[in-house]
Amino acid sequence: MVIFKEAAQLRNFLNIKVENNFNIGFIPTMGALHSGHISLINNARNEGMFTVCSIFLNPTQFNDKKDYEKYPVSTDADIEMLLQAGCDVLFLPSVDEMYPDGTDKMKTYDFGYLDTILEGANRPGHFKGVGQIVGRLLDIVRPHSLYLGQKDYQQCMVIKKLKEILGLSALNIVISPTLREQDGLAMSSRNRRLTEPQRALAALLYQCLISIQTKKTAGDFSIVQKECNDLLTAKGFITEYVALADANDLRLLNNYENNTPMVALIAARIGEIRLIDNILLQ
Ligand code: AMP
Repeated sequence: MVIFKEAAQLRNFLNIKVENNFNIGFIPTMGALHSGHISLINNARNEGMFTVCSIFLNPTQFNDKKDYEKYPVSTDADIEMLLQAGCDVLFLPSVDEMYPDGTDKMKTYDFGYLDTILEGANRPGHFKGVGQIVGRLLDIVRPHSLYLGQKDYQQCMVIKKLKEILGLSALNIVISPTLREQDGLAMSSRNRRLTEPQRALAALLYQCLISIQTKKTAGDFSIVQKECNDLLTAKGFITEYVALADANDLRLLNNYENNTPMVALIAARIGEIRLIDNILLQ
């Protein structure tokens, strides 16, 4: 695996790969890698891609300074995992490399409705930061395929919109299912910060999502939404949302709809840790 810290050097290297007919598969991450990230690397490799992973803890997408400062960093272990997975290139830039003119000068994008709901509403400025960094990374890496995780459902939709805004019609976006721990907790870098008792409770988000799915046949979302809110509160969570939405455009739904593909989404805090999860309803 070749490690680059400078964008220009990575670009020169990838130019030669593209001239030699390699297809570039790109997996952007913030590091503290786990099996969920590696599943994206595996997907790219299985599709025959020349696999480029980036690790960059992007300051502009953290609306909460403490969350940024306490975000786990484990670069040596990450490199080892990427080597084991057969990743071809790791891009490991500094903040200055990604924002040479400062974070304020970097281009921002308008995601409209998507930025006003759920994660957008609860994390002001978050998607602005995501747009900045993904726009910059796409410009450097110019991948054929971009690999994302369903774990960040709304982010996937924002990045699809970014693709549209940037006119990258040839870019293939591949969304992979969420990898989970045995008890159902979605794998996440932030899970490392959970204390043992918090960790024991954290799978409750997934259990709530399953109950939203199961109770679809009963047909009253507001009842199961209240049950989930009450249960999470009783166990010490601070719930930000328990929501049901159209899976295609994230239009929020008050109730289950027949013939609409639906996604249930939850965000809740336990102690200092903010957890999110979602499932597509069958
Ligand atoms: P992050 O490092 O959290 O920014 O995540 C980098 C990429 O990995 C994003 O596309 C995430 O959606 C994806 N990802 C994170 N957690 C998981 C998971 N548990 N399963 C699959 N993909 C994931």
